Amino acid sequence: MKVKIDADICIGCGLCANTCPEVYQMKEDKAVVVVDVVPKEAEERCQTALDDCPVTAIMSID
Ligand code: SF4
Repeated sequence: MKVKIDADICIGCGLCANTCPEVYQMKEDKAVVVVDVVPKEAEERCQTALDDCPVTAIMSID
């Protein structure tokens, strides 16, 4: 699983970084993805963060 964030859409709420800090971290006022491939043990939290993003800025890629 890989994910990316559309920085133009992200409102910097911090929810994804709180839910799954292994994958998402805040950088200035936007969230960034800090791994290339999501570790297996973080996939469920990563998916939860994706589903819960209030503006649908997180996308799964392949
Ligand atoms: S949950 Fe969505 S809007 Fe909030 S920081 Fe993460 S990517 Fe940005």
